[in-house]
Amino acid sequence: MIAPGATLGVLGGGQLGRMFAQAAQRMGYAVVVYDPDPHSPAGRVAEHVCAAYDDMGALSDFAARCAAVTLEFENIPLSALHHVAEQGVLAPHAQAVAVAQDRAAEKRLFAALGLNPVPWRTVEDDASAAQAWSELASSAAMEVGILKTNRLGYDGKGQRTVRSAQECVEAWRELGEVSCVLEARIALQQELSVVLARNARGDFALYEPGENVHRAGVLHTTTVPANVDSRLALSVQGMARALAESLDYVGVMALELFVDTQGRVWSNEMAPRPHNSGHHTLDACWCSQFEQQVRALAGLPLGDPSCHSPVVMLNLLGDVWEHGEPAWPLQLPGVALHLYGKAQARPGRKMGHINLLGASHQALLQHCEQVLF
Ligand code: ADP
Ligand code: MG
Repeated sequence: MIAPGATLGVLGGGQLGRMFAQAAQRMGYAVVVYDPDPHSPAGRVAEHVCAAYDDMGALSDFAARCAAVTLEFENIPLSALHHVAEQGVLAPHAQAVAVAQDRAAEKRLFAALGLNPVPWRTVEDDASAAQAWSELASSAAMEVGILKTNRLGYDGKGQRTVRSAQECVEAWRELGEVSCVLEARIALQQELSVVLARNARGDFALYEPGENVHRAGVLHTTTVPANVDSRLALSVQGMARALAESLDYVGVMALELFVDTQGRVWSNEMAPRPHNSGHHTLDACWCSQFEQQVRALAGLPLGDPSCHSPVVMLNLLGDVWEHGEPAWPLQLPGVALHLYGKAQARPGRKMGHINLLGASHQALLQHCEQVLF
């Protein structure tokens, strides 16, 4: 066990790292953030090592100062993760992160575990792009496909919707002729996610599923409780749990899922870190996903993941700042504003979120959407 007072490290300095740092600091830990961006949101609230992920000397110094290190961003180069792990505790471990860095590896694991990945094929060149289309069109009755880069995609970036073999070939070229996967587009009834924490003893804290609404590939709202029956809720929690067990996962992770119009459940992707769809846990649950990340990393008992209030989380993208700083509806009870301290509000950039708590959360959401969008 790593007791409060010790120093914890986080690779990556975005908003997830910032909220990890704040949770750790509240519990008495010192935090060092490693991020090459001099303006990283987490670097503004904790000590910041501003160095590149291939600077092995800086990584060594960073690791030597930390009792344990976690990450907030899955695309930290594996070489950096291995280097840190050689010098001390890294959780989650590099192999689990490696799976999440590669959509094809992730889908193979989902399939091996019976977690029902969306019908998919790999695309490596013109010929496999056309072949992937025709195979999915016949085996999965695909009418619309989504071509996604295997690596480095986020918030809907690195994706193209395609409607023929020819479009699939063109999309592969547009995406830079890199390794891709073609997926059948699912007729979505609902999107769900399960966030969980697991510690090195194998204890679990499972959050109840959140119901997610995306706009243009970016998360817009998460509502808890989700509109699902208890059997479905238990089943998707079981899927996330099986995934974490299979990876011997330590830390916080999320599994994103689709429910189609026939009620079938599909696995979309995993995140080896706290997840945007877990931000409601900051105000609505006894123990937030970020505090769980601290607890799992430090070997403390995990906290109670249950919610003490219904909640909807509303993401605040840079677009909301179009006419300057918005008039936040802070006079209303049940409104919890979280801003990440980013100086520039670019369209599409995640700037913060609002948690809307209590039985009238849907009315609060309507009000916020009216005044902010
Ligand atoms: P990212 O890494 O950008 O989060 P995702 O694969 O999760 O990428 O895609 C972002 C969103 O796009 C999903 O949450 C969903 O709304 C939509 N989407 C992605 N893949 C599919 C699919 N196969 N069928 C239907 N919708 C999809
Ligand atoms: Mg996603």
